[in-house]
Amino acid sequence: MAKSSPQPAQLYEPRKQVHNKRIDGPFRRFKWFVMAVTLTIYYGTPWIRWDRGPYAPDQAVLVDLANRRFYMFGIEIWPQEFYFVAGLLIMAGIGLFLVTSAVGRAWCGYACPQTVWTDLFQHVDRFVDGDRNARMRLDAAPWTWGKVLRRGFKWTIYLIIGFWTGGAWIMYFADAPTLVYDFWRGEAAPIAYITVAVLTLTTVTLGGFMREQVCIYMCPWPRIQTAMMDEHSLLVTYKDWRGEPRGSLKKAEKNPDAFGDCIDCMQCVQVCPTGIDIREGPQIGCITCALCIDACDRVMKDIGRPRGLIDYATLEGSKREAAGGEARPAWKELLRMRTLVYLGIWGSIGFALLFALGARSHVDLGVSPDRNPPFMLLSDGSVRNSYTLKLRNMTQAPRDMTLTLEGLEGARFWTDSIPIEDAARSITIRVPADATQTVRAYVAAPVGTSQQDFDFVLSTGGERPESDTNTTRFTAPGE
Ligand code: SF4
Ligand code: SF4
Repeated sequence: MAKSSPQPAQLYEPRKQVHNKRIDGPFRRFKWFVMAVTLTIYYGTPWIRWDRGPYAPDQAVLVDLANRRFYMFGIEIWPQEFYFVAGLLIMAGIGLFLVTSAVGRAWCGYACPQTVWTDLFQHVDRFVDGDRNARMRLDAAPWTWGKVLRRGFKWTIYLIIGFWTGGAWIMYFADAPTLVYDFWRGEAAPIAYITVAVLTLTTVTLGGFMREQVCIYMCPWPRIQTAMMDEHSLLVTYKDWRGEPRGSLKKAEKNPDAFGDCIDCMQCVQVCPTGIDIREGPQIGCITCALCIDACDRVMKDIGRPRGLIDYATLEGSKREAAGGEARPAWKELLRMRTLVYLGIWGSIGFALLFALGARSHVDLGVSPDRNPPFMLLSDGSVRNSYTLKLRNMTQAPRDMTLTLEGLEGARFWTDSIPIEDAARSITIRVPADATQTVRAYVAAPVGTSQQDFDFVLSTGGERPESDTNTTRFTAPGE
């Protein structure tokens, strides 16, 4: 008989659907808490109102693309102040370094949007189809009308969640109540409908269907995070020196000395949202959500053994414990040099931003001299230079701003709205609230004035006087 040829190696393993089991415990409750807070912030923030007076929007958090402003409660960021946003992004990055070096992928396990929305969709599965076993039975069952109706109901809830997610996103870019009204009347901008459609689709696809595959295969963050951890980072760890060799409770009861504490009940695997077995050691699929700790602690309690067979532990502590010693207390691992340095950098940037925010001026003057022609000779022989000035009023009320020439002896200036006869060394201009006013200024200096630098000084009166100075060049003939 001919020998059958060997099967070719499989290059691709089909995905095994993860049907994670419901679990309760301190980490699960913390996950509930983080989920409630993050979703409330995301969906609720655009509806918070913030009174900024009649000249600015009253939405607390708003990215006003049309007017190029970012509003966040009492703070208004102009385009030229984008460094505040950059500073916040840097703080977020260093904050992630800090958290990762202290407690591993806690961001992934609790607060990452992919985790939060996947968790939400998993609860929908549980609500519609039941817990793990019921879901597995339904998955394996043939397509009947009952299954079609269940699936239709569940996917409708998915779509509603996706739609609300996309809908909430666009409200960060326009006045929320107005946008909702316009949206349902079909009068919102086309980009609003396109954005909601795209985000509905991506939310349902990534959170509802792809789930753990995003974390394991698509997201670069797990790869980067491994570089931030060291032997003192607290990670979810299976204590194999205590658990192995594993064996069923029955076997362990018959021969207690031959087995460790793990009774191979698979509870830790069944509750895992990414479907991995933490007993195989640290792996990229572990998002450090600690649900397996809750599951195993419950098992240990039921069989009367100490909790913590799976627990937060450092590599260093694990080595010590495996050798019969004691791990250092968690607080000592958290407050080590590396985390303190990250905390110091993070705090310094935060203080610097707060200081810059408190000390920033609400007026700004931009000056750009005309280059073509650089100067003109007037009939009386004096020399005229032209400038484009930008007067910025970053407050929520109109302001009188006085422009003054400093230096350039004997020079006067006027604007398009102030005739040459009224030329002076100081001119007051009213600038509307929250606006930039462009002014054409003409500076005339007496005959014989040489080329030199001088200042335009902008100043305001009122209760909180502010000023800005801009040095520019006066060009004269013969040089
Ligand atoms: S839950 Fe605990 S006892 Fe059960 S298999 Fe996992 S590690 Fe072993
Ligand atoms: S192994 Fe444990 S900590 Fe890691 S993802 Fe699964 S349940 Fe969460």
